[in-house]
Amino acid sequence: MRTPLIAGNWKMHKNSETARDFTREFMKLPRPDDVKICIAAPFTELFALEEMFVGTHLYTAAQNMHFEDEGAYTGEISGHMLKEIGVDYVILGHSERRTYFNESNEIINKKVRQAYKWDIIPIVCCGESLEQREQGLARHIVRHQVVMAFAGISAADVSRSVIAYEPIWAIGTGKVATPQQAEDMCRLIRLTIAEEYSPEVADCVTILYGGSVKPDNAGQIMAMEDIDGALVGGASLDPQSFMDIVNYRKEV
Ligand code: PGA
Repeated sequence: MRTPLIAGNWKMHKNSETARDFTREFMKLPRPDDVKICIAAPFTELFALEEMFVGTHLYTAAQNMHFEDEGAYTGEISGHMLKEIGVDYVILGHSERRTYFNESNEIINKKVRQAYKWDIIPIVCCGESLEQREQGLARHIVRHQVVMAFAGISAADVSRSVIAYEPIWAIGTGKVATPQQAEDMCRLIRLTIAEEYSPEVADCVTILYGGSVKPDNAGQIMAMEDIDGALVGGASLDPQSFMDIVNYRKEV
């Protein structure tokens, strides 16, 4: 049985004051104890969040990391540094990083290897652009991204990982994929892992959908068989709306 995971991605939002305010308010709200909750905060807020989350079932995630342990890489943060402050997850290969920071599948694969080295669970993002979908390339692109991201990774590590299907056309646009569109792609991801590794490994992988997830559509998306959770951008910035998504079972 896979445990549902709802991950918030704050992107480049919030400062130390607003991050703490959010967290205090968020932690007061009733939440189910069988859903994992994770917040991907800016690097500068991760330590504070870690401290506030001690003794809870709340987890932290970084939004990126470098593929080396240390070195002359101005502006970068390593897995070692993240592990030292207790970070649990790291988002890798988000489409915004692929697009604005030229991250290739090869670079993402190096980062995935590095995450496992430091025992940080990667949330590996994949997803097609609108143009690719219209050209009928969505399945090919996503399959390729998944195979490349996990190249050379052991079955044991893959089975602990999280993969987020995030169609680029749905991110921050308010244009959510239909539950069936999301399910079709998440199923494809699971079948890809089954082919590359085994059905048992594929059964263990946590697959999220991301792209304009809101309190009013989370329940329908989460009801799909191969969707185990959500990666939430805009709607994770407000404590109540993020908690309403965590409580997705209530609105059905
Ligand atoms: P969104 O972002 O929920 O604002 O569409 C999702 C993401 O980029 O992870």
